[in-house]
Amino acid sequence: MKLNLKNTFSKELPADTNTENSRRQVTAACFSFVNPKKTAKPELLHVVPSMAHALGISEEETQSKGFLEIFSGNAILPSSKPYAMCYGGHQFGNWAGQLGDGRAINLGEIEHLGQRWALQLKGAGETPYSRSADGLAVLRSSIREYLCSEAMHYLGVPTTRALSLILTGDKVLRDVLYNGNAAYEKGAVVTRLAPSFIRFGNFEIFSSRNDIATLKKLTDYTIKYFYPHLGEPSKKVYVSFFKEVAEKSLEMVLNWQRVGFVHGVMNTDNMSILGLTIDYGPYGWLEGYDLGWTPNTTDSQHKRYRYGNQPQVVQWNLYQLANALYPLIEEAEGLEQILHDFSTNYDCKEQKMLASKLGLFTTKQEDAKLLHTLQELLQIIEVDMTIFYRDLAAFKVDNPLDGLQVVQNAFYAINELTLDVKEKWNIWFKDYAERIKQENLSAKERIEKMNKINPKYVLRNYMVQVAIDAADKGNYSVVNELFNVILNPYNEQPKYTKWYAKRPEWARNKVGCSMLSCSS
Ligand code: AMP
Ligand code: MG
Repeated sequence: MKLNLKNTFSKELPADTNTENSRRQVTAACFSFVNPKKTAKPELLHVVPSMAHALGISEEETQSKGFLEIFSGNAILPSSKPYAMCYGGHQFGNWAGQLGDGRAINLGEIEHLGQRWALQLKGAGETPYSRSADGLAVLRSSIREYLCSEAMHYLGVPTTRALSLILTGDKVLRDVLYNGNAAYEKGAVVTRLAPSFIRFGNFEIFSSRNDIATLKKLTDYTIKYFYPHLGEPSKKVYVSFFKEVAEKSLEMVLNWQRVGFVHGVMNTDNMSILGLTIDYGPYGWLEGYDLGWTPNTTDSQHKRYRYGNQPQVVQWNLYQLANALYPLIEEAEGLEQILHDFSTNYDCKEQKMLASKLGLFTTKQEDAKLLHTLQELLQIIEVDMTIFYRDLAAFKVDNPLDGLQVVQNAFYAINELTLDVKEKWNIWFKDYAERIKQENLSAKERIEKMNKINPKYVLRNYMVQVAIDAADKGNYSVVNELFNVILNPYNEQPKYTKWYAKRPEWARNKVGCSMLSCSS
């Protein structure tokens, strides 16, 4: 395997001078050199062919011993000098100090086909940033990250990618519910890819320590490689840099809202400086539409990271990034303006996005009311978000009173619809029909457009759990099948319609389906 490995991050930025793999506070450095842990008996479970291709790895090579050794961490490419990044972060609203790559090890960056991909092994053992944990990952959480990052990509959501899913052959001890019932699980390593894994927290750590020199080096590096069009660093350029990060982060969260993705742990250490969805932990997908829903049991009390709050949290996180960059700019006004504009821009784009999900592509004054009423109706009795929007494409403008029937499969208990609520729905459908008539689109065109915005297949929580339960028993067929389903989420895919279904009742309160923890 010949890979065009570059080490710009580790060559151009200051390294930790200590090369021991001991847990510690690392200062005045962006990373620490550390080698992955050797694994007992690695076994390749899945590979993403398109990403192998993007790196210049042939299909044959992905099946080779060399591939398995490198991407399980057992062997190190001659040109690679693996390292873990130093970053901090705000967790659940509070400054948490140094965090860092506790279980991610970077191999370097590959430049291929005009693209740059940083390679990271997740779950490859301890680093100086592992704090009290083991640096490992279990098969369960690795399947979740592997499948979901790819699912998001094909849904058109900016995200990190995956290359391979490898069983390590080692056992890992985890207490899933944090209730004293720890058990051994299968260990795994996911190789993940992104142009860069730099997070908001990488900047925050230096400004929190008043280490402005290193903060400047990291910021200049980030601009040089990932925002090169901004030009030579200056105070003005730093403000423009922040503006672009804000815009990218806005697009990211707007897409989450569109497809019903709930990240679950939007701490600033989990916010990519490139506006990519990163760190798939206790995430989940809305089934019943509910602005107040979060999959993360650790957040069940305050629900800080609930679906409906995600845009505000992105803005809050951007505030933290602005604070971190401030020492380079020393002028608050430009940053404040960008933060202020975030809300207005978001509201405007959200309205357009929500309207487009209804097949409305022009803007009318009455739209705000139509959208707001729908949001309320969707939350009175449980309605499956994905099925509702997808089936809505079949709505016939001339028969608004058939509306409820068109979307009936989206209701979890349609017989619980009271006459009063039914009437509200009927009124909404009548208004909706009138509104569609004002669009200059044939029914066929509207359906085609809506079906490109409203996915038919999302990676429902229970689907991954079915794949995990089978994989724990050594059967990877569901992982394979789901991987195929997610490649074309907007297509009908008749052979996979069993996955176009509401959450089964058994999954309603099951661990891994509706209740997830950070234990991974
Ligand atoms: P997360 O909640 O996954 O974003 O992780 C927060 C911090 O904990 C990051 O610094 C992670 O690298 C670290 N971390 C999470 N799980 C582990 C683990 N099993 N071993 C070491 N560090 C971990
Ligand atoms: Mg993280």
